[in-house]
Amino acid sequence: MLAAVPPPVTVRVPGKINLHLAVGALREDGYHDLVTVFHAVSLFDEVTVTIADDPGIEVHGEGVAEVPLGHSNLAWRAVELLSRHADRDPDVRVVLRKGIPVAGGMAGGSADAAGALVGLAALWKLDLTRDELSRMAAELGSDVTFALHGGTALGTGRGEQIVPVLSRHPQHWVIALHRQGLSTPTVFRELDRLRGDTEPKERPVEPVLEALACGDPRQLALSLGNDLQAAAVSMAPDLRRTLRAGVNAGALAGIVSGSGPSCAFLCSSADAAVEVATELAGVGVCRTVRVVHGPVPGARVVDPHEPP
Ligand code: ATP
Repeated sequence: MLAAVPPPVTVRVPGKINLHLAVGALREDGYHDLVTVFHAVSLFDEVTVTIADDPGIEVHGEGVAEVPLGHSNLAWRAVELLSRHADRDPDVRVVLRKGIPVAGGMAGGSADAAGALVGLAALWKLDLTRDELSRMAAELGSDVTFALHGGTALGTGRGEQIVPVLSRHPQHWVIALHRQGLSTPTVFRELDRLRGDTEPKERPVEPVLEALACGDPRQLALSLGNDLQAAAVSMAPDLRRTLRAGVNAGALAGIVSGSGPSCAFLCSSADAAVEVATELAGVGVCRTVRVVHGPVPGARVVDPHEPP
């Protein structure tokens, strides 16, 4: 008798913003040490994995032309890694539905890799611990571990060593999506160029941790900071206008997310975020806006009976 083919598994994975990003000096191996606070927000990719005779990957949603198919897609790399681990052929089809902007500094590729790991582990009924998944995630990329866990977390190393951070209340954000993406390695190179021979300035993380613990968005607004922002703005100077427009529209603060060019605006409430988004959308300084909240959980299998 033929074994029944398991039904497809869909995983929802959030994008992230960095509430704090301190970039150390360039190391000899070409990387930088980071101290960052990741915050998962309600902008999601969906990753569906299915047993298939025609293995491969397909991508839907905005910016798909920029997303590689095949081995260089991070979600497919996750499939290959888990296949080796489980000693199985990667006889699966992966469908990505992108809600996270591509090359937007919100770790969409890493989210897809985390989603593929969780989805395939469920499809193949692999009994993996959270630690085993985390180890594989770290092997795939520095932001994949966080995409697996979600919430708010302190990241060190290259960002792959994470510990959860207490964050007392939900925070409300407007994300401004830019017309074009920025390449992360190029933004880091621009930061190195801007710094020249000068030592990186100290950017202590404690104020942002204290603000999260107390939950007051006004205090959090004062402590947001990103060392990559100057480099992102240098490469996409119109971001200066976007950042100014968000604050003029009533946001408490605006920051470039990670390597950019997406900008995140912290608002005092859910209603304030809707107002800021409406005004920001009207001034033509970005491609589009999204109202989101955070923190949200990391990669989770979607219950097939849950309404969409
Ligand atoms: P990074 O994660 O490198 O900081 P980012 O968050 O700015 O980057 P991503 O959307 O993750 O942006 O994409 C960065 C690049 O990775 C894209 O330009 C694309 O070529 C490649 N990429 C590989 N896999 C994916 C994927 N599943 N989704 C989006 N981009 C992907």
